[in-house]
Amino acid sequence: MTNKPQAPQAAPVFGTAAKGEIVTIFIGPEKKRYNIHKDVICHHSEYFRTAYNGRWKESDEGATLEDIEVEVFNIFVHWLYAQTLPNCPQLILRLAEETDPGSELGWSRYRHAWELVLKCGMFGDRFLTPAFHHLAHNTFVNVQFGEGVDGGASGVSYATIIWAFDNLPSDSLILAMMVDLQCIAWNEEQDDEEEKSDLSQLPNEFLVAVMLKQNKIRVCDETTELSACDYHLHESEEEKKACPANGKYCKS
Ligand SMILES: [Zn+2]
Repeated sequence: MTNKPQAPQAAPVFGTAAKGEIVTIFIGPEKKRYNIHKDVICHHSEYFRTAYNGRWKESDEGATLEDIEVEVFNIFVHWLYAQTLPNCPQLILRLAEETDPGSELGWSRYRHAWELVLKCGMFGDRFLTPAFHHLAHNTFVNVQFGEGVDGGASGVSYATIIWAFDNLPSDSLILAMMVDLQCIAWNEEQDDEEEKSDLSQLPNEFLVAVMLKQNKIRVCDETTELSACDYHLHESEEEKKACPANGKYCKS
């Protein structure tokens, strides 16, 4: 029987953490070195808490996570200490790449920023850090609901849809949101030539899901009202009730 270490109830006190142990983690194939306060990372992640109480306990030379991208880990470390995640692509890229990306982002850089946020959600899920998982997930959802030409919801860029259907689990709410937005909020006029060039690569699962959703709307009178909160991840019903997007519908 294993004794799983329990999550501490109170938030970490940085004054205490700063007097405590520093752990070393090497990230990515290039093994980039990070020194992190053990109390902080163990407070937020059950994965690291268990590892540092078990297999990594005696590891003086540090642990290595080779299949993690440095850009994603940079955002995670920022979140560990700041407990925030920006919803602006420039700031996300600045955190991820550690340099100022400039004020003008091309489409591919813009999409890269949002893919990093999706990857952060996957990281949070894998490393048992639900608060980071949920924040990254919900940040991505909120951006899709606030970015339309008229400030409302819009379809997600095809390149991101292609990436998401390739990388996210098939039951992800993000995938369901992409399908619903395509059926209800997307407008053909919003596609420029670059977008149109990706049309032929749209995944079959996405196109079939769009067909089925269209059918439900037409035949079963399924609602065409969209609320970002329907795609959010919330810790509890109470948290969902308190969500600013709960019960707010955007008109298609
Ligand atoms: Zn919500």
